[in-house]
Amino acid sequence: MPGAPSRRQTSLIRPAMADKAGITLPPGRTIGILGGGQLGRMTALAAGQLGYRCHIFDPVPGGPAALVAAAETNAPYDDMAALDAFAAAVDVITFEFENVPVDTARRLAEHVPVRPSAKSLEVAQDRIVEKAFLNNAGVPTAPYAEVETVDELHVALDQIGRPAVLKTARLGYDGKGQVMIRPDMDPAEAFASVGGARCVLEGWIDFERELSVIVARGPDGTMAVFDPAENRHENHILKTSLIPAGIPTALATEAQEMAERLALALDLVGLLAVEFFVTRDGQLLANEIAPRPHNSGHWTMDGCATSQFEQFVRAVCGLPLGATTRHGDAIMTNLIGDEADSWPAILTEPGAHLHLYGKNEARPGRKMGHVNRIYPLGKRPD
Ligand code: AMP
Repeated sequence: MPGAPSRRQTSLIRPAMADKAGITLPPGRTIGILGGGQLGRMTALAAGQLGYRCHIFDPVPGGPAALVAAAETNAPYDDMAALDAFAAAVDVITFEFENVPVDTARRLAEHVPVRPSAKSLEVAQDRIVEKAFLNNAGVPTAPYAEVETVDELHVALDQIGRPAVLKTARLGYDGKGQVMIRPDMDPAEAFASVGGARCVLEGWIDFERELSVIVARGPDGTMAVFDPAENRHENHILKTSLIPAGIPTALATEAQEMAERLALALDLVGLLAVEFFVTRDGQLLANEIAPRPHNSGHWTMDGCATSQFEQFVRAVCGLPLGATTRHGDAIMTNLIGDEADSWPAILTEPGAHLHLYGKNEARPGRKMGHVNRIYPLGKRPD
Protein backbone atom coordinates (compact mmCIF):
# COMPACT_ATOMS: atom_id res chain seq x y z
CA MET A 1 0.00 0.00 0.00
CA PRO A 2 1.59 3.31 -1.00
CA GLY A 3 2.27 5.61 1.93
CA ALA A 4 2.17 2.95 4.63
CA PRO A 5 5.20 2.98 6.93
CA SER A 6 7.52 0.24 5.82
CA ARG A 7 8.14 -2.76 8.01
CA ARG A 8 11.71 -1.79 8.88
CA GLN A 9 10.99 1.86 9.59
CA THR A 10 12.02 1.78 13.20
CA SER A 11 13.97 -1.45 13.29
CA LEU A 12 17.52 -1.50 14.53
CA ILE A 13 19.21 -4.62 13.29
CA ARG A 14 21.72 -6.00 15.72
CA PRO A 15 23.73 -8.92 14.42
CA ALA A 16 24.52 -11.79 16.77
CA MET A 17 28.26 -11.10 16.72
CA ALA A 18 29.60 -7.58 17.05
CA ASP A 19 32.51 -6.44 14.92
CA LYS A 20 35.65 -6.34 17.08
CA ALA A 21 36.79 -3.12 15.41
CA GLY A 22 34.00 -1.25 17.21
CA ILE A 23 35.29 1.59 19.36
CA THR A 24 33.37 4.50 20.75
CA LEU A 25 34.57 8.08 20.47
CA PRO A 26 32.85 10.03 23.22
CA PRO A 27 31.57 13.59 22.74
CA GLY A 28 34.33 16.17 23.11
CA ARG A 29 36.56 14.46 20.54
CA THR A 30 37.35 15.84 17.08
CA ILE A 31 35.98 14.47 13.82
CA GLY A 32 38.05 15.15 10.72
CA ILE A 33 36.01 15.63 7.54
CA LEU A 34 37.51 15.45 4.07
CA GLY A 35 35.63 17.90 1.87
CA GLY A 36 34.16 21.24 2.77
CA GLY A 37 30.77 21.47 1.02
CA GLN A 38 27.23 21.52 2.36
CA LEU A 39 27.24 17.85 3.39
CA GLY A 40 30.28 18.53 5.56
CA ARG A 41 28.57 21.65 6.90
CA MET A 42 25.40 19.83 7.97
CA THR A 43 27.51 17.00 9.44
CA ALA A 44 29.54 19.53 11.45
CA LEU A 45 26.33 21.15 12.73
CA ALA A 46 24.95 17.77 13.84
CA ALA A 47 28.30 16.86 15.40
CA GLY A 48 28.30 20.13 17.30
CA GLN A 49 24.89 19.32 18.73
CA LEU A 50 26.32 16.08 20.13
CA GLY A 51 29.33 17.87 21.62
CA TYR A 52 31.96 16.99 19.02
CA ARG A 53 34.33 19.37 17.24
CA CYS A 54 34.96 19.14 13.52
CA HIS A 55 38.12 19.84 11.57
CA ILE A 56 37.62 20.25 7.81
CA PHE A 57 40.26 19.29 5.23
CA ASP A 58 39.59 20.97 1.91
CA PRO A 59 41.92 22.36 -0.75
CA VAL A 60 39.75 25.51 -0.97
CA PRO A 61 39.43 27.76 2.10
CA GLY A 62 36.22 29.15 3.58
CA GLY A 63 33.72 26.64 2.15
CA PRO A 64 30.29 25.94 3.66
CA ALA A 65 31.64 23.40 6.18
CA ALA A 66 34.60 25.47 7.36
CA LEU A 67 32.23 28.33 8.20
CA VAL A 68 30.70 26.23 11.00
CA ALA A 69 33.69 24.09 12.02
CA ALA A 70 36.28 24.42 14.80
CA ALA A 71 39.27 24.17 12.47
CA GLU A 72 40.18 23.89 8.80
CA THR A 73 43.23 22.70 6.87
CA ASN A 74 43.64 23.85 3.28
CA ALA A 75 46.00 21.70 1.26
CA PRO A 76 45.85 19.43 -1.78
CA TYR A 77 44.64 15.88 -1.10
CA ASP A 78 48.09 14.53 -1.98
CA ASP A 79 50.02 16.76 0.44
CA MET A 80 51.34 14.01 2.72
CA ALA A 81 52.74 16.36 5.38
CA ALA A 82 49.38 18.18 5.61
CA LEU A 83 47.53 14.84 5.78
CA ASP A 84 49.79 13.58 8.58
CA ALA A 85 49.30 16.79 10.57
CA PHE A 86 45.53 16.60 10.02
CA ALA A 87 45.45 12.98 11.21
CA ALA A 88 47.42 13.95 14.31
CA ALA A 89 44.87 16.68 15.13
CA VAL A 90 41.69 14.52 14.95
CA ASP A 91 40.30 11.32 16.51
CA VAL A 92 38.43 9.84 13.55
CA ILE A 93 38.19 10.79 9.88
CA THR A 94 35.30 10.64 7.46
CA PHE A 95 34.48 12.28 4.13
CA GLU A 96 31.57 14.14 2.62
CA PHE A 97 32.22 13.26 -1.03
CA GLU A 98 33.38 10.04 -2.62
CA ASN A 99 36.02 11.41 -4.95
CA VAL A 100 38.60 11.82 -2.20
CA PRO A 101 41.67 9.98 -3.57
CA VAL A 102 41.84 6.43 -2.20
CA ASP A 103 45.55 6.92 -1.39
CA THR A 104 44.62 9.88 0.80
CA ALA A 105 42.23 7.71 2.82
CA ARG A 106 44.86 4.97 3.07
CA ARG A 107 47.54 7.36 4.29
CA LEU A 108 45.23 8.79 6.94
CA ALA A 109 44.16 5.31 8.04
CA GLU A 110 47.77 4.60 9.06
CA HIS A 111 47.24 7.09 11.91
CA VAL A 112 43.57 7.18 12.81
CA PRO A 113 40.35 5.28 11.96
CA VAL A 114 38.89 6.32 8.59
CA ARG A 115 35.17 5.58 8.45
CA PRO A 116 33.89 4.48 5.98
CA SER A 117 37.04 2.71 4.80
CA ALA A 118 39.01 3.29 1.61
CA LYS A 119 37.30 0.22 0.11
CA SER A 120 33.94 1.98 -0.09
CA LEU A 121 35.62 4.90 -1.87
CA GLU A 122 37.18 2.52 -4.38
CA VAL A 123 33.79 1.00 -5.18
CA ALA A 124 31.91 4.29 -5.39
CA GLN A 125 34.54 6.08 -7.51
CA ASP A 126 34.32 3.80 -10.49
CA ARG A 127 30.99 2.99 -12.13
CA ILE A 128 32.31 -0.31 -13.53
CA VAL A 129 33.67 -1.52 -10.18
CA GLU A 130 30.44 -0.29 -8.59
CA LYS A 131 28.14 -2.20 -10.97
CA ALA A 132 30.12 -5.40 -10.53
CA PHE A 133 29.96 -4.94 -6.75
CA LEU A 134 26.17 -4.40 -6.85
CA ASN A 135 25.58 -7.46 -9.03
CA ASN A 136 27.90 -9.63 -6.90
CA ALA A 137 25.88 -8.63 -3.84
CA GLY A 138 22.72 -9.82 -5.61
CA VAL A 139 21.47 -6.30 -6.39
CA PRO A 140 20.43 -5.96 -10.03
CA THR A 141 21.46 -3.01 -12.23
CA ALA A 142 20.74 -1.89 -15.80
CA PRO A 143 22.58 -4.07 -18.34
CA TYR A 144 26.04 -2.58 -18.88
CA ALA A 145 29.34 -3.02 -20.68
CA GLU A 146 32.79 -1.54 -20.16
CA VAL A 147 33.96 0.57 -23.11
CA GLU A 148 37.44 1.94 -23.76
CA THR A 149 37.42 2.59 -27.52
CA VAL A 150 34.93 3.52 -30.25
CA ASP A 151 35.16 -0.05 -31.58
CA GLU A 152 34.21 -1.41 -28.17
CA LEU A 153 31.33 1.07 -28.07
CA HIS A 154 29.98 -0.34 -31.38
CA VAL A 155 30.12 -3.88 -29.98
CA ALA A 156 28.50 -2.80 -26.71
CA LEU A 157 25.68 -0.99 -28.56
CA ASP A 158 24.97 -4.15 -30.58
CA GLN A 159 24.78 -6.08 -27.32
CA ILE A 160 22.78 -3.61 -25.21
CA GLY A 161 20.73 -1.85 -27.88
CA ARG A 162 19.57 1.76 -28.17
CA PRO A 163 18.76 4.07 -26.59
CA ALA A 164 21.62 3.66 -24.15
CA VAL A 165 23.55 5.94 -21.82
CA LEU A 166 27.30 6.34 -22.05
CA LYS A 167 28.89 7.48 -18.76
CA THR A 168 32.51 8.10 -17.86
CA ALA A 169 33.60 5.44 -15.40
CA ARG A 170 35.03 8.04 -13.02
CA LEU A 171 34.28 11.58 -11.83
CA GLY A 172 30.73 12.01 -13.11
CA TYR A 173 27.98 13.62 -11.02
CA ASP A 174 24.66 15.42 -11.55
CA GLY A 175 24.52 14.14 -15.15
CA LYS A 176 28.02 15.42 -16.00
CA GLY A 177 30.19 13.09 -18.10
CA GLN A 178 27.23 11.25 -19.64
CA VAL A 179 25.36 11.20 -22.92
CA MET A 180 22.26 9.40 -24.12
CA ILE A 181 22.88 7.52 -27.37
CA ARG A 182 19.70 7.64 -29.44
CA PRO A 183 19.16 5.49 -32.55
CA ASP A 184 20.50 8.17 -34.93
CA MET A 185 23.57 9.21 -32.96
CA ASP A 186 27.08 8.56 -34.21
CA PRO A 187 28.90 6.45 -31.56
CA ALA A 188 32.23 8.20 -32.28
CA GLU A 189 30.61 11.55 -31.58
CA ALA A 190 29.06 10.25 -28.35
CA PHE A 191 32.40 8.82 -27.20
CA ALA A 192 34.20 12.10 -27.99
CA SER A 193 31.53 14.11 -26.15
CA VAL A 194 32.35 12.41 -22.83
CA GLY A 195 36.07 12.91 -23.40
CA GLY A 196 37.01 9.54 -24.91
CA ALA A 197 37.76 8.19 -21.45
CA ARG A 198 37.06 4.72 -20.00
CA CYS A 199 33.28 4.48 -19.87
CA VAL A 200 30.35 2.30 -19.04
CA LEU A 201 27.53 1.85 -21.53
CA GLU A 202 24.20 1.27 -19.80
CA GLY A 203 20.89 0.17 -21.20
CA TRP A 204 18.30 2.97 -21.10
CA ILE A 205 15.74 2.28 -18.36
CA ASP A 206 12.28 3.65 -19.05
CA PHE A 207 11.72 3.89 -15.31
CA GLU A 208 8.48 4.59 -13.52
CA ARG A 209 10.21 6.49 -10.73
CA GLU A 210 13.53 6.92 -8.94
CA LEU A 211 14.13 6.06 -5.29
CA SER A 212 16.92 6.24 -2.80
CA VAL A 213 17.52 4.53 0.51
CA ILE A 214 19.96 5.60 3.20
CA VAL A 215 21.27 3.07 5.68
CA ALA A 216 23.60 3.65 8.62
CA ARG A 217 25.95 1.01 10.02
CA GLY A 218 28.00 1.32 13.19
CA PRO A 219 31.38 -0.26 13.98
CA ASP A 220 29.60 -3.10 15.84
CA GLY A 221 27.55 -3.96 12.73
CA THR A 222 24.31 -2.41 13.97
CA MET A 223 22.22 -1.01 11.11
CA ALA A 224 19.32 1.43 10.87
CA VAL A 225 17.61 2.34 7.64
CA PHE A 226 15.47 5.34 6.67
CA ASP A 227 12.29 5.16 4.62
CA PRO A 228 12.91 5.37 0.87
CA ALA A 229 12.62 8.77 -0.78
CA GLU A 230 11.17 9.25 -4.25
CA ASN A 231 13.44 11.57 -6.21
CA ARG A 232 12.57 13.89 -9.07
CA HIS A 233 15.31 15.51 -11.11
CA GLU A 234 15.43 18.60 -13.30
CA ASN A 235 18.35 19.10 -15.69
CA HIS A 236 19.99 16.00 -14.12
CA ILE A 237 20.01 17.69 -10.68
CA LEU A 238 17.86 16.48 -7.80
CA LYS A 239 14.93 18.88 -7.48
CA THR A 240 12.60 17.24 -4.96
CA SER A 241 12.45 14.21 -2.70
CA LEU A 242 9.04 12.96 -1.61
CA ILE A 243 8.45 10.79 1.43
CA PRO A 244 6.88 8.31 1.47
CA ALA A 245 7.71 7.15 -2.04
CA GLY A 246 4.67 6.15 -4.07
CA ILE A 247 5.48 2.45 -4.01
CA PRO A 248 4.04 -0.61 -2.29
CA THR A 249 5.36 -1.36 1.19
CA ALA A 250 6.87 -4.65 -0.01
CA LEU A 251 8.97 -2.81 -2.59
CA ALA A 252 10.11 -0.26 -0.01
CA THR A 253 11.19 -3.10 2.26
CA GLU A 254 13.02 -4.81 -0.61
CA ALA A 255 14.94 -1.58 -1.37
CA GLN A 256 15.85 -1.23 2.32
CA GLU A 257 17.01 -4.85 2.50
CA MET A 258 19.19 -4.33 -0.57
CA ALA A 259 20.77 -1.24 1.00
CA GLU A 260 21.49 -3.22 4.17
CA ARG A 261 23.01 -6.05 2.16
CA LEU A 262 25.30 -3.57 0.38
CA ALA A 263 26.37 -1.90 3.64
CA LEU A 264 27.25 -5.32 5.01
CA ALA A 265 29.14 -6.32 1.86
CA LEU A 266 31.22 -3.13 2.14
CA ASP A 267 31.73 -3.68 5.87
CA LEU A 268 30.63 -0.07 5.99
CA VAL A 269 30.92 2.17 9.04
CA GLY A 270 28.98 5.34 8.33
CA LEU A 271 26.16 6.01 5.88
CA LEU A 272 25.40 4.46 2.53
CA ALA A 273 22.92 5.96 0.06
CA VAL A 274 21.66 3.67 -2.71
CA GLU A 275 19.84 5.11 -5.74
CA PHE A 276 17.35 2.88 -7.55
CA PHE A 277 15.22 2.95 -10.65
CA VAL A 278 11.77 1.35 -10.30
CA THR A 279 10.93 -0.20 -13.65
CA ARG A 280 7.41 -0.15 -15.07
CA ASP A 281 7.00 -3.79 -14.04
CA GLY A 282 7.94 -3.03 -10.44
CA GLN A 283 11.58 -4.21 -10.39
CA LEU A 284 14.34 -2.41 -8.51
CA LEU A 285 17.56 -1.67 -10.39
CA ALA A 286 20.36 0.03 -8.47
CA ASN A 287 21.90 2.99 -10.28
CA GLU A 288 24.63 4.13 -7.93
CA ILE A 289 25.81 4.21 -4.34
CA ALA A 290 27.34 6.95 -2.23
CA PRO A 291 29.09 6.11 1.08
CA ARG A 292 28.13 9.42 2.74
CA PRO A 293 25.11 11.60 3.57
CA HIS A 294 22.97 12.19 0.49
CA ASN A 295 20.91 15.08 -0.85
CA SER A 296 17.83 12.84 -0.90
CA GLY A 297 18.17 12.38 2.88
CA HIS A 298 17.92 16.07 3.77
CA TRP A 299 14.22 15.63 4.66
CA THR A 300 15.29 13.67 7.74
CA MET A 301 16.60 16.92 9.30
CA ASP A 302 13.03 17.99 10.03
CA GLY A 303 10.98 14.87 9.28
CA CYS A 304 12.63 12.17 11.39
CA ALA A 305 13.51 11.31 14.97
CA THR A 306 17.18 11.31 13.93
CA SER A 307 18.55 13.23 10.94
CA GLN A 308 20.86 11.51 8.46
CA PHE A 309 23.66 13.82 9.66
CA GLU A 310 23.23 12.96 13.32
CA GLN A 311 23.02 9.28 12.33
CA PHE A 312 26.23 9.66 10.35
CA VAL A 313 28.02 11.15 13.36
CA ARG A 314 26.63 8.43 15.61
CA ALA A 315 27.81 5.69 13.23
CA VAL A 316 31.27 7.15 12.65
CA CYS A 317 31.80 7.73 16.40
CA GLY A 318 30.45 4.31 17.40
CA LEU A 319 27.48 5.71 19.35
CA PRO A 320 24.13 3.88 19.44
CA LEU A 321 22.24 4.59 16.21
CA GLY A 322 19.07 6.69 16.48
CA ALA A 323 15.52 5.74 15.60
CA THR A 324 14.57 6.39 11.98
CA THR A 325 10.87 6.95 12.77
CA ARG A 326 9.19 9.60 10.63
CA HIS A 327 7.26 12.47 12.25
CA GLY A 328 5.20 12.87 9.10
CA ASP A 329 5.31 12.98 5.34
CA ALA A 330 7.85 15.25 3.70
CA ILE A 331 8.83 17.12 0.58
CA MET A 332 12.41 18.32 0.31
CA THR A 333 13.01 20.91 -2.40
CA ASN A 334 16.50 21.96 -3.42
CA LEU A 335 17.14 25.66 -3.88
CA ILE A 336 19.33 25.79 -6.95
CA GLY A 337 21.10 28.93 -8.20
CA ASP A 338 18.98 32.06 -7.70
CA GLU A 339 16.02 30.03 -6.33
CA ALA A 340 17.63 30.67 -2.98
CA ASP A 341 16.59 34.33 -3.37
CA SER A 342 13.08 33.19 -2.39
CA TRP A 343 14.24 32.76 1.23
CA PRO A 344 12.12 35.67 2.56
CA ALA A 345 8.90 34.06 1.28
CA ILE A 346 9.90 30.62 2.59
CA LEU A 347 10.48 32.09 6.04
CA THR A 348 6.87 33.31 6.17
CA GLU A 349 5.49 29.86 5.29
CA PRO A 350 4.23 27.94 8.34
CA GLY A 351 5.85 24.51 8.58
CA ALA A 352 8.59 25.21 6.04
CA HIS A 353 12.14 24.58 7.31
CA LEU A 354 14.76 26.58 5.46
CA HIS A 355 18.39 25.46 5.23
CA LEU A 356 20.93 27.70 3.48
CA TYR A 357 24.53 26.66 2.93
CA GLY A 358 26.27 30.03 3.28
CA LYS A 359 27.57 30.07 -0.30
CA ASN A 360 28.28 33.59 -1.57
CA GLU A 361 27.72 33.14 -5.26
CA ALA A 362 24.46 31.67 -6.69
CA ARG A 363 25.82 30.19 -9.93
CA PRO A 364 23.32 28.35 -12.19
CA GLY A 365 23.05 24.69 -11.16
CA ARG A 366 24.72 25.32 -7.79
CA LYS A 367 22.95 23.89 -4.73
CA MET A 368 22.49 26.90 -2.43
CA GLY A 369 20.13 25.41 0.13
CA HIS A 370 16.95 23.39 0.54
CA VAL A 371 13.56 23.63 2.16
CA ASN A 372 11.81 20.81 4.02
CA ARG A 373 8.04 20.85 4.17
CA ILE A 374 6.60 18.38 6.68
CA TYR A 375 2.96 17.24 6.65
CA PRO A 376 0.92 15.02 8.95
CA LEU A 377 1.22 11.33 8.00
CA GLY A 378 -0.87 10.66 4.90
CA LYS A 379 -1.53 14.36 4.23
CA ARG A 380 1.25 15.24 1.80
CA PRO A 381 0.23 16.99 -1.44
CA ASP A 382 1.53 15.27 -4.64
P1 AMP B 1 23.69 9.25 -12.51
O1 AMP B 1 24.76 10.26 -12.75
O2 AMP B 1 24.07 7.86 -12.87
O3 AMP B 1 23.10 9.37 -11.13
O4 AMP B 1 22.47 9.65 -13.49
C1 AMP B 1 21.79 10.88 -13.34
C2 AMP B 1 20.34 10.70 -13.75
O5 AMP B 1 20.27 10.36 -15.15
C3 AMP B 1 19.60 9.57 -13.04
O6 AMP B 1 19.11 10.00 -11.79
C4 AMP B 1 18.51 9.27 -14.05
O7 AMP B 1 17.46 10.23 -13.96
C5 AMP B 1 19.20 9.43 -15.38
N1 AMP B 1 19.78 8.13 -15.81
C6 AMP B 1 21.01 7.67 -15.52
N2 AMP B 1 21.22 6.45 -16.02
C7 AMP B 1 20.08 6.11 -16.66
C8 AMP B 1 19.65 4.94 -17.39
N3 AMP B 1 20.46 3.87 -17.57
N4 AMP B 1 18.39 4.92 -17.88
C9 AMP B 1 17.57 5.99 -17.71
N5 AMP B 1 17.92 7.12 -17.05
C10 AMP B 1 19.15 7.19 -16.52
